[in-house]
Amino acid sequence: MDYQQGELFSNELAPWEIDAAAETPCASVVFPEAPFGPYDYRIPDELGGLIKPAMRVVVPLGKGNREMVGYTIAVHISQHPRELIKPILRAIDPEPLCNSNLLQLIQWMSRYYLVPSGQVFEAVVPAGVRAGAGTRNQTLLKPSLKASDDAQVKLLPVKQRQTLQQLILADEPLSQDQLKHLAQCSEGVIKKLRELEFIDSYTERVMTFGKDDIQPTYERVLPPALSSDQRLALQTIYAAIDSGEHETILLHGVTGSGKTEVYMQSIEQVASYGKQAIVLVPEISLTPQTRSRFQNRFSSVAVLHSKMSGPERHYQWKRIAEGGAQVIIGPRSAIFAPAPYLGLIILDEEHEGSFKQETIPRYHARDVAIHRASLERIPLVLGSATPSLETFHRSSTGQYKIVSLPRRILNRPLPEVTTIDLRSNRIDVDRGSLSRPLVQAIERTLAENGQTILLLNRRGFATSIQCPSCGDVVTCPDCDLALTHHREGSKATCHYCDYTIAAPRVCSKCGFDAIRLAGLGTQKLEMEVQQRFPNAVMARMDSDTMKKPGSHERVQADFRSGRIQILMGTQMIAKGLDFPNVLLVGVINADTALHFPDFRASEKTFQLVTQVAGRTGRGERGGEVLVQTYSPDHPAILAACKHDYKMFSDLELTQREQFGYPPYASLARIIMRGPVQQEAEEFADAVVKKIQMEIARTSAPVRVLGPAPPPIAKLRGHYRFHAMLISKEAAALNAILSRVQATTKPMGENLYLIDIDPIDML
Ligand code: ADP
Ligand code: ZN
Repeated sequence: MDYQQGELFSNELAPWEIDAAAETPCASVVFPEAPFGPYDYRIPDELGGLIKPAMRVVVPLGKGNREMVGYTIAVHISQHPRELIKPILRAIDPEPLCNSNLLQLIQWMSRYYLVPSGQVFEAVVPAGVRAGAGTRNQTLLKPSLKASDDAQVKLLPVKQRQTLQQLILADEPLSQDQLKHLAQCSEGVIKKLRELEFIDSYTERVMTFGKDDIQPTYERVLPPALSSDQRLALQTIYAAIDSGEHETILLHGVTGSGKTEVYMQSIEQVASYGKQAIVLVPEISLTPQTRSRFQNRFSSVAVLHSKMSGPERHYQWKRIAEGGAQVIIGPRSAIFAPAPYLGLIILDEEHEGSFKQETIPRYHARDVAIHRASLERIPLVLGSATPSLETFHRSSTGQYKIVSLPRRILNRPLPEVTTIDLRSNRIDVDRGSLSRPLVQAIERTLAENGQTILLLNRRGFATSIQCPSCGDVVTCPDCDLALTHHREGSKATCHYCDYTIAAPRVCSKCGFDAIRLAGLGTQKLEMEVQQRFPNAVMARMDSDTMKKPGSHERVQADFRSGRIQILMGTQMIAKGLDFPNVLLVGVINADTALHFPDFRASEKTFQLVTQVAGRTGRGERGGEVLVQTYSPDHPAILAACKHDYKMFSDLELTQREQFGYPPYASLARIIMRGPVQQEAEEFADAVVKKIQMEIARTSAPVRVLGPAPPPIAKLRGHYRFHAMLISKEAAALNAILSRVQATTKPMGENLYLIDIDPIDML
């Protein structure tokens, strides 16, 4: 293992190595793979002044001096004599990839999430940017010093002289083709001028993408007269913008209260100072509707999304870095947009789980946003109708300001919500999933030319395949989870690893040949609704039907135009849609997430039901909501039906405090896994024992639960165990885990991963 050889002495010097006279310019370099560094490398004379923090450099690593790409994180003077320090071989980037605030953010993420900073770099700087996607090397020509001597120029033959004069007149470097075209000369003429040293050439990386990109012009829309609640909210945000200090403001506004208008006018304020704003939205709400709302108001909007090509992303990144976008809208990773004049960050639907990244680095965009806003000394606005309890708690303890929009725009009432008790209105495979009251409501809505939204938070046809004779459930051999039946192609698929088989007709255990499909997915719902309402135009929105780019847009446009009468789908349809003609929302089963082994199960259920209910009653014709549930008395469902956030949060916060869960404590999860159950278990025990010893040694105020098998005890062929670390002091968790991380290596194929502030508990 060559990396044990140590790439040169970081800060500790052996006495015989210190040379008070030595002053060697160095850069600290980190790597995205082991060894992660940082290690010092000498800046050779020819690169003097060219190496700055946040650049990629090529350096020799280990005994074999393998060439490696690393990121510089600092430039400093070392007191090691230069001969002892290996040199940087070359720089890849001519300019830093990000400014110093972003670099500090990267280093904070590295410490907080316990991820090497080289790996954080890779998450922050998009691959398309790193690969220079959409660029090529171009040779550029400019007049040499000699060309400024008229006496010499005059002596040149006519064509050469004219060509050189064109280049001088151009006042900027030209490519060979441009000069050829301008001077109407041949390549030979230019070649000759270069040989005679009248023309200097150099190469530069230039963008080929987006050059001729003409920003489409949008119809400018004037802002509406604000409601008094909106005005008050804006005053608070303006004050924060003018203070020149960081502040986090929770904008708690019921669905349809006009939060987006408040965002837009806040941005107008910062834009009037020549500053930029980042608007983070869940990927799913990055709809054409959201985009055009912003594009109708701001002249330069950069939209980032996950389906962008490398060149496109690179182009936007450059444009943002040059200060050429007033508003940057995107999902969680847009928090890393390299805006040099950032004035405001907005995080819409701040309660959304999708702001948490579930791969390395496992960051939460909300927490990163808080940190970035504080580094930049600018306000952060967190908006939601159903704020996360973490955010709400902080606003009630005074850490955040809170402003409320308790009413809908134009004082429209929130829709009436009624629960339908599924214990007395049975729905099952045989009878179908729509209770009588819901069927009647759909009929009524169709008759009134209104539109209906039906939410079922499960995709697929049946959620499990079970043998009614022996009870055997068809499961994934790699994940130990029930396979979901999909009608399209008659498949049974594991929703975690995509393992797929032909749907069985006969039980593999007992041979019984009338295997039963239990549970209900969106596919089955669609079929049923089609049978009930054969003349209605309907569409289904879930991750199976929305695979093709543009499919979202199409369905939404059809729904907006009124062509689609019934829209059904998973949580995708619960978010952000603002269609006035939706007169009915039906929740097929509110309990799908309620009984998950997750302390946030109630919170997630409350949010989902409240959000989907908020999709109706947005127009003059009002709207109603029917919620089918087996637990109509559950506090989360009761509160959602009354649109009563306070009722929900009071109750839930009391419970969280009692059990010592967030927001009253910080949480970290450690997952251990391996292909052999017993070994994985032993490894988990050993890791947790180490954690416990470290806690005892430092008397840290940290509680440990586990190791235990998580709800998904086997995933992709690996057996899993997890443990939860809980503490009132986030710093104590960090200290224990960073110590354990430094001393714990994987054991063969048994690996562990650390998830700080976990959201996913599966
Ligand atoms: P929220 O994000 O709070 O759910 P929206 O921002 O979607 O609410 O606003 C709901 C609707 O009200 C939108 O159609 C929006 O254009 C409209 N709206 C917002 N503010 C005003 C206002 N002051 N006057 C009239 N209509 C408004
Ligand atoms: Zn699987």
